[in-house]
Amino acid sequence: MPKFIEKQYKSIINKNKIIDHWFWTRYSINPYNGCQFGCIYCDARSDHYHMPEDFENEILVKTNVGPMLDQRISRARTFLPDVVGIGGVTDSYQPAEKKFGNTRAILEVLAKHRYPVHLITKSTLVLRDLPLLEEIAQQTWCTVSVTITTTDLEKSILLEKFAPSPAKRLDVLRQIKAEAPHVQTGALLIPLIPVLCDDPVEVEALFTAVKQTNADYLMFGGAMTLRNRQADWFLQQLQHARPDVYEQYAGLYEFTPDARTYDGRYVPANEYMQAQHKHLFALSQKHQLPHRIKRYIPDDWRKTNYRIAERMLNVVFERQMLGQSWETLFWAAQNIQNLKEPLEAVADRGELGRIKNVRGHIKTRIEKILDEIDREDA
Ligand code: SF4
Repeated sequence: MPKFIEKQYKSIINKNKIIDHWFWTRYSINPYNGCQFGCIYCDARSDHYHMPEDFENEILVKTNVGPMLDQRISRARTFLPDVVGIGGVTDSYQPAEKKFGNTRAILEVLAKHRYPVHLITKSTLVLRDLPLLEEIAQQTWCTVSVTITTTDLEKSILLEKFAPSPAKRLDVLRQIKAEAPHVQTGALLIPLIPVLCDDPVEVEALFTAVKQTNADYLMFGGAMTLRNRQADWFLQQLQHARPDVYEQYAGLYEFTPDARTYDGRYVPANEYMQAQHKHLFALSQKHQLPHRIKRYIPDDWRKTNYRIAERMLNVVFERQMLGQSWETLFWAAQNIQNLKEPLEAVADRGELGRIKNVRGHIKTRIEKILDEIDREDA
């Protein structure tokens, strides 16, 4: 039985300086610290996140989240409605949610203020809130991403022992599509688990299964990360359950087998990552399953800025996955979506080149996209 520790935090919502170009989130909220699903690869177990020592049995429950969030949004002068990522670090629909209802309380406040939402979960409990999520989607924008790393039940039990089975998660996608038609929903193959779950046939089975749910996307990107105490935990569990593949991980992550503390790579080498991504892009095309989430576009002066940045950041994503240069384009897009005025006004003054990182072929690309958007809207 997990121990729940209720605690009032000073703040409930973080505003990020830049918008996340994978999930399109500007703000982030985590209703709980620690996660009862207890996935053995979970990056939130690392020192980086300052989670409870006993990650899956000691859950910190933030108290008073609804009123605090309501007050923060009502009083904030610098907040504009933009995507709030819920549960980016720990699952916001873990079993604790049934008892404490923090996620529900947060969604009610966001619906009141018409803030768009992106949720990431492995839980079937998200279905409880479908009417509310559909309401948010109709008002503004709502996306639910369901993480599925494998369709193999045995592997899922090893890796994600207390999370709902892959079949149940596929059902969640199906049900969202059927009952909340304005909610964008899809699967996250994030992280890809090397060795145990990277067999091409098995990965394709996941694409087939997700496609059959009618989901809007299957997003991938990156592989399992390993660092400090999270790596120690993962390798300890692996050695116990699958000693036969331990050496393969040692080779891929370049750690010293049986070292006292982890001394290997954070992610596998680039060659491995790029080969996986190439295969995933090919599957995405073959199954006609988009690998990107369609972003929220505000219905105000930011509209063109966000539309242009979306197109640029979609290119950035592909370049990142394939190991090509992406940094200047990335910062140009971020600077555009952080402008304090519509991009058209800047272009009309002939000042596009004054935006940081907007120069040369990037400037030409932006001018082209502006023309495209003009034609689309005509
Ligand atoms: S569900 Fe997500 S947050 Fe929870 S343990 Fe698994 S990976 Fe970590």
